[in-house]
Order: sequence, then structure tokens, then C-alpha cells
Amino acid sequence: MSADSTDVAIIGAGIVGISVAHYLCTRHRVTNLVLIDSGDPMGLTSAKSGENYRNWWPHPVMTAFTDDSTTLMEEIARASGNRINMTRRGYALATRRAEPADLLAELHAGYGTDAARRIRIHRHGAPAGYRPATSADWQDAPDGVDVLMDHALIRASFPSFSPEIATVLHIRRAGDISGQQLGQFMLEAIRAAGGRLRRARVGAIAPGASFALSLVDADGAQAVLRADRIVNAAGPFIGEVAAMLGEALPVSCVLQQKIAFEDREQAIPRSMPFSIDLDPQEIAWTGEERALLAADPETVALTRQMPGGIHCRPDGGDRGSWIKLGWAFNQAPSVPSREPPLIPHFPDIVLRAAGRLNPSLRVYIGKLPRRATHYGGYYCMTPENWPLIGPMRTQGAFVAGALSGYGTMSACASGALCAAWMAGAALPSYAHQLGLGRQQDAALMAELAALRSKGVL
Ligand SMILES: Cc1cc2nc3c(=O)[nH]c(=O)nc-3n(C[C@H](O)[C@H](O)[C@H](O)COP(=O)(O)OP(=O)(O)OC[C@H]3O[C@@H](n4cnc5c(N)ncnc54)[C@H](O)[C@@H]3O)c2cc1C
Repeated sequence: MSADSTDVAIIGAGIVGISVAHYLCTRHRVTNLVLIDSGDPMGLTSAKSGENYRNWWPHPVMTAFTDDSTTLMEEIARASGNRINMTRRGYALATRRAEPADLLAELHAGYGTDAARRIRIHRHGAPAGYRPATSADWQDAPDGVDVLMDHALIRASFPSFSPEIATVLHIRRAGDISGQQLGQFMLEAIRAAGGRLRRARVGAIAPGASFALSLVDADGAQAVLRADRIVNAAGPFIGEVAAMLGEALPVSCVLQQKIAFEDREQAIPRSMPFSIDLDPQEIAWTGEERALLAADPETVALTRQMPGGIHCRPDGGDRGSWIKLGWAFNQAPSVPSREPPLIPHFPDIVLRAAGRLNPSLRVYIGKLPRRATHYGGYYCMTPENWPLIGPMRTQGAFVAGALSGYGTMSACASGALCAAWMAGAALPSYAHQLGLGRQQDAALMAELAALRSKGVL
């Protein structure tokens, strides 16, 4: 059995492990590192991302964290001639409620001390000052949030939305990127700095003066890699890797799915931002469908009231023709698998429900284009939906994970933060709150447990 050694071994070459390696190399000159993955880099959860980003959160810590990540993505967009295809048409959060006081309170809480500066309300009769998202260019977009409470302004700015919509919260520092291009850009920098990529499964880790990682290649060949420090960036398998060190992490995995298809009927305007229907709904099944679903204990929940959060956006830019739809309504944890078991009727569920906000989508019910894709992956998450980034209990071991449905948008800040912990460099204000140590902060944990929304989308 061959033995090799390195300063840092990073387990997982998804967007998060790659970002940790990137910031170790580029900011801290730690270049003797190996990124280990049993599959292709960016091939597991990171390949399933909707690739959306936002700074809309129910708590200012997550707002600051994703704002920092967006600033880092902007640096990369600038340095690479926007190779990561960063756009900024925002997130449009729609509700049929005319005075959603709870949503506005949440908005204020999320932007914290900055809320008054960032939030602009456009009421009936005083709609001046709102700039619709006519351009996708991230450098053109305003910051902050526009709250549209004027029916005529909503109709003019979001013509595909149902006329029932009474309020739209338009989050402006939000949009989409190409996660794959972000990963490739970082991988090139890692390789150029001397970092290595190793295709193997980490089967066991023996702690000691240095860690001994047992590696198994695809053809079954075994090897040992010695590393002074390790990073657990194994995505849905961070719990499994932690267990190799005798540690338990407070995480579970929840399967979420999406569909994408060519919008041949041009149901969705290409300039529509990432749009979310915030209201709960009962899906409009036919009588026969409803009876069939109600008869099966596994599907009966689909006939009851479903949570809000169904979303849709154009994919592939202004000249593209595809759209993506998703709905993270599943809340049941499951054991993660590399081949997630998709719910066969998910496309039908999501299409019917999405037709409530964008009625033109109903044209596809029962007629989804043949080339439509249906895919899914796991939100690996803590109960409070905050990540785990920083030292583990085992000396020399670090974790960067539990990034739920926001790991693409926060990958840069996650990598920079984990790298800063490892290098003993200055840490951002939220560093301790996003690490395992927050569990000892009873006041913070109680505050998070009391939040109505955990920001899951
Ligand atoms: C349907 C869906 C939609 C999403 N939409 C968005 C979105 O719009 N915006 C957003 O920001 N985020 C989104 N996310 C979340 C985002 O995709 C994830 O948070 C992110 O990809 C997690 O990256 P990761 O590197 O932690 O995990 P992964 O990408 O899963 O990478 C982990 C890697 O570790 C490797 N690995 C695991 N165990 C071992 C081992 N023992 N040995 C060797 N290798 C191992 C795996 O092979 C894998 O490649 C979405 C997720 C899903 C599922």
C-alpha cells in the first residue's frame, strides 16, 4: 500500500471544499494540499443547485454572511470577465396579502441596523423611484429591497404574475451565477498554485501526530494519505466523515427536487426575476387525481394545504429559452444516497402549484416537453438552518458544510471563513456563530429556535 503526505487534506471537491482550497492557496499561501473526492469535482449536490443567490434572510448574521459571499463572487466576476455569468435581477417574493405586517417585520429583522437604509416602500399613489429589473447586469442593479404595494405598479413590473398579487418584496442584491464555472475558476487557481486533486473515497481516518486517511480508488486499490490537518467538506456525508473521527454533528439531510424545461410557449418573460410564491396553497387537482392521491398514505399530504415557497426563473440568460422550477416542501430527513430517489409525480406537483403565481405555466400541465429534466439532491442542514464552518472537536480537523439550500451562494464566504480559521487569520464578526461553538450559546440558540422562518427556500 502506497503512502503519501500533505499539509492539508480536504474531503469533498464540491463547491465548498473547492472554495476552502481556493482561499487557503490564494489568501494564506497554503498550497501543499490535496482535494479528495470519490467522484467528479462538483459532481454531487453542487451539480444540482438552482444557482441562485440572495441576501434575504430572517437574521442579520446570515445576511452579513451571504453579503460577504456576494462581494467575493463579484471579485471573481470582475477578475474573470464575468465567466461565472453573474446576473442580478433580484428575487421577487409575491403574496396576495395587502398588508403583510409579519413579512415586513421579518424583512426589517433580517437587515438589522441597516434596514431603514435598505428597505424602500412603494405604496399606492406614491410609486415613484422603483426601478424594474430591465437589465441582468449585476453592476447595474440597485441594492436594498423594494416593497411594491401598488397594484398598478405590480402589474406593470411583473406582467406574468396573477392579478391577485397585492405585495411584492423585490430583493435587489440577488440573482444567479454559474456554480460550475465558479468551481472551475477556483480549481484552475488551486492547480496553478500547486494544489492537487485525488480521486478516491475516504473510508476511515486514524488520528495521531498526523491524520492517516485510508483511501480507496475506483478500481479498489487502497492507499494511505497522511495529513497534518483535514477539512470535512463532504456535503451530505459530513456526518459520516465526522463519525470517522468519533464525532457527531447536529445535521440531517432532506431531499429536494427541481425541474427544468424549454419554455417553448414563452410562458415566462425572460426578464422575470427569480420569483417565489410566498403563500401556502392547496393544489388544484382534478377530482379524480385528488381521490387517487388521498387514497395513498404516501401522497395524501399533497391533497392538503402545502407550504409557500414555490419558485420559478428563466435559465440561460436573456437569449436562453429554458426555465427552472423548484419547491422545497419536503421536510422529512432521510439517509443520503448518491442516487437520490426522486418522487415521480414531482414535475406535476410543481407545475400545478407554480401556475398559481404564473398562470401562463398551466399550459404545460400534462404536456411537459420531452426533454424536461427532473433532478434532486440533499439539503444537509442543522435544525436552525445555519452552517457549520470552523474547527471540529478533534484537534487539526475542520468542517465546512451543512449549507442546506444556500451552499452555492455562500461557498465563497464559507471557504474564506474556513481558510481563515485554519490560518489563524482575522475572522469576520459572525465566525463563532457559524461554527459548532454556537451550540454552547444558549441565548442565540433560543433566539434561533423562536424564529418563525428559518430561511429555507
Ligand atoms: C435541488 C437543490 C437546489 C439548490 N439550489 C441552490 C441555489 O439555488 N442556491 C444555492 O446557493 N444553493 C442551492 N442548493 C444548495 C447547494 O447546492 C449546496 O449547499 C452545495 O452544493 C453544497 O456543496 P458541498 O460542497 O457542501 O457538497 P457537495 O457538492 O455534495 O460536495 C461534497 C463532495 O464530497 C464528496 N464526498 C463525500 N464523502 C466522501 C468520502 N468519504 N470520500 C471522498 N469524497 C467524499 C462527494 O463525492 C461530493 O462531491 C441547492 C441544493 C439542491 C439539492
